[in-house]
Amino acid sequence: MFMSTISAVDFPTEGYAIHVDMALGPHGPVNDAVLAVKHGVIVNLCSAADYASQPRGLKPMRMTGTAMLPGILDVHHHVIEPFVKALTCGEPAQMWKRIWLPLEATLTEQSAYLGAKWTFLEALRGGITTIVDHGIRTRAIAAAINRAADDTGIRLVSSTGVYDLKNFSTNARTPDLVKDVDAAIRISEQHVEDCKPFSRVSPSLACGTVQSNSGDMVKALARFCRERRILFQIHANEHTLEVHASIEATGRRPIEYLGDLDALGSTTLIAHATLVTGAEMELLRATDTAVAYNPVAAIWKGNAIAPALDYITRGIRVGLGSDATRNDGLRMIDAAEACQRIAFGIPRDDFSCGAGWRWVHAATQGGADAALLGGEVGALAPGRKADFLLLDCRGPEVRPSWDFTWEVVRFFDRADILATFVEGEPVQIGGRSTRFDNAAFLDAAEAQGVQAVHDAGLIRLHGTADSGWPGDQATPRTSQVD
Ligand SMILES: [Zn+2]
Repeated sequence: MFMSTISAVDFPTEGYAIHVDMALGPHGPVNDAVLAVKHGVIVNLCSAADYASQPRGLKPMRMTGTAMLPGILDVHHHVIEPFVKALTCGEPAQMWKRIWLPLEATLTEQSAYLGAKWTFLEALRGGITTIVDHGIRTRAIAAAINRAADDTGIRLVSSTGVYDLKNFSTNARTPDLVKDVDAAIRISEQHVEDCKPFSRVSPSLACGTVQSNSGDMVKALARFCRERRILFQIHANEHTLEVHASIEATGRRPIEYLGDLDALGSTTLIAHATLVTGAEMELLRATDTAVAYNPVAAIWKGNAIAPALDYITRGIRVGLGSDATRNDGLRMIDAAEACQRIAFGIPRDDFSCGAGWRWVHAATQGGADAALLGGEVGALAPGRKADFLLLDCRGPEVRPSWDFTWEVVRFFDRADILATFVEGEPVQIGGRSTRFDNAAFLDAAEAQGVQAVHDAGLIRLHGTADSGWPGDQATPRTSQVD
């Protein structure tokens, strides 16, 4: 069977058994492999020879020239912001002040729905089957995002939270400041209830940073999550300015301060954790706190690269995140490995730099562990939800194959992703959603998305990429996007 001839109806809900040339199992690549799926759950991954000796019953599908990967998890995203794209390029750190918050302030339910749906479509095309959204959403906006996830078929860790310090909520159209902890707990309980109708959506709570929330509020929301085993998210130690501000306000670095607040722990996910001391790393390890390593965000707008390999070596759970840069799972893995190599491997003559598998693992099982979905997704293993990718192995870029895992890190590309499956369902085939008319959606949503960017009053400090070309004498560096 050739992938160009398949459609969603070829994969019955009751089950099927896909026979591929190669599959990445929990313990490494399996040659000539069969993945058996029943009602959206993996029931077997083994060699075709082993499978042949077992009882049949599932629809067999031989897919010559294909390989299979677990679906990639993006554990740090802000899903409503896909329309600014290159406006963020060249910008200095803390662009949230000039780009993200003004944009979020203009959100409507409709624009949030379209932005999230657009992000999810990109992500599925890029091999990402689970997204962890970070955002302080009103109930209506969170509902729009949940609906967009449900309409595209992606798995979502949905988020809300509160701001209770004014410096992060300067625009009247951002969610109202919530002053007391009881009100915040009511919002949190409502969010948990609102996520229940969606089988692929789980709830989480977020605080922006230690600058956006009081210690009492951070402590209360982290505790709420710990008691219910849901994810608590917070950015920490990403930028120089943030670390300075934390020390000025609290006398402590952000992760130290979170430790003081009892906000670290096995249900907490720290986004970035780039500017860390050895003592802070030890604090993350001792409390079993997870980290979202966001390599592309670090390249584009960061002050440093997170010491992800050190984290992993210490036993700290690490997943990969995009931080709303680009929705391309394989390029994210490539960047994860490259950043570690440049920042830490090259100066130490560490040519292995974790070996290829650590970065594929961080994007799959590591991400699932960081997102509290470790028993559900992240590996092609019996009992897990069947979230996986089919890759084309016939292209010249990936032949001859010598070491499949390294090839995933460095040679496979988004164009090689033939189909993306969530819970056994092919939600995109050949780059198109199987759920809706892609072209019609994109044409309609783009116009609204561009208008929303114009309306937001964004400030760009860098100017365009063409500023400073030879002969360009007068291009202003700072500009209002209008
Ligand atoms: Zn972020």
